[in-house]
Amino acid sequence: GTAALGLSACTSSPASSGEAAAGGDAAGVECNVGISMPTRSLERWINDGEQLQAALKDADCTTDLQYADNKTDQQISQIQNQIAGGSKILVIAAIDGEALAPVLADAKKQDVTVIAYDRLINGSENVDYYATFDNYQVGQLQGEYIVETLGLEGTSETFNLEPFAGSPDDNNAKYFFSGAWDVLLPYIESGTLVVPSGKSPATVDDWASIGIQGWDSAKAQAEMDNRLSSFYTGDEKVDVVLSPNDSLAIGIIASLKSAGYKPGADYPVLTGQDADKANVKAILDGQQSMTVWKDTRTLGDRVFEMTQSIVAGEEPEVNDTETYDNGKKVVPSYLLPPETVTEDVVQTKLIDSGFIKASDVGL
Ligand code: BGC
Repeated sequence: GTAALGLSACTSSPASSGEAAAGGDAAGVECNVGISMPTRSLERWINDGEQLQAALKDADCTTDLQYADNKTDQQISQIQNQIAGGSKILVIAAIDGEALAPVLADAKKQDVTVIAYDRLINGSENVDYYATFDNYQVGQLQGEYIVETLGLEGTSETFNLEPFAGSPDDNNAKYFFSGAWDVLLPYIESGTLVVPSGKSPATVDDWASIGIQGWDSAKAQAEMDNRLSSFYTGDEKVDVVLSPNDSLAIGIIASLKSAGYKPGADYPVLTGQDADKANVKAILDGQQSMTVWKDTRTLGDRVFEMTQSIVAGEEPEVNDTETYDNGKKVVPSYLLPPETVTEDVVQTKLIDSGFIKASDVGL
């Protein structure tokens, strides 16, 4: 148990609503936490949900963990049930960042504090805190990796690039894309990078035109199949694929494979994000070049700390109060640092730290 629990039951809230339980202003709240995760189909969300739930249970909190099968309506009804069931803090990784404002208004009426987890929730004043990785930096790391690996600086060669972006309804996707694009665009403008498919957004703001709905591997595969069969005829080869995450990379790997690309030789540079087991294996097999690793354990720990501050009636620690404007307010955020993982550091970063087991990736 924790000292904070002594404050439970006392849920009186400040007279003026709209503010989160702020230090001094409010008493603590019962540690009853609803966790709403998007899907079990991606490994990371299973780890995120289970790890946070375990930490909360160790602190004697009541928890309810739900997964919404990537369906927005299902997520909304699960959140409604959590509010009705007495959750006093909601931790939400939104499927559609634009769709939760009405249910968050209901949450606020019940004095529920809302933490946006990993993905920002837009269009609502009722998002109290946001904890995530530096999403823009995720894209920058992917872009920088491409620049360094292909040696784009000062070269007279040209390289064929195929860029992809994440799900248009996920607020993170535009940050990932713009981080990468800000690094790559100068090389596109100079003609060092060429996009044979023409799937190159005119400006960063047009990123959703190349977004893959639902971060779906099969959709990424179909899109890559189309590009390869239409634009890579004859001797034309793709040199580099910007994939924003590992689930898209899985589809792109399958497409490259069926088009006859083999690891080594002319296999393109391919980026990713998450360090999913299947992708770490692909990195070791030479089918993917890198992944941006976000140690989700640190995010879980950070959000756990936030819940404990809220329970104690204190203001949770944040480190960014400028970046994440959700259209109604700038949401106080805690940003964690992502890092690049390539084959040579799989052992030291991912396995030695216990993030994955050697046996998970065939080592
Ligand atoms: C997360 C990524 C994840 C993607 C697909 C994003 O919001 O930040 O880690 O790969 O969603 O689930």
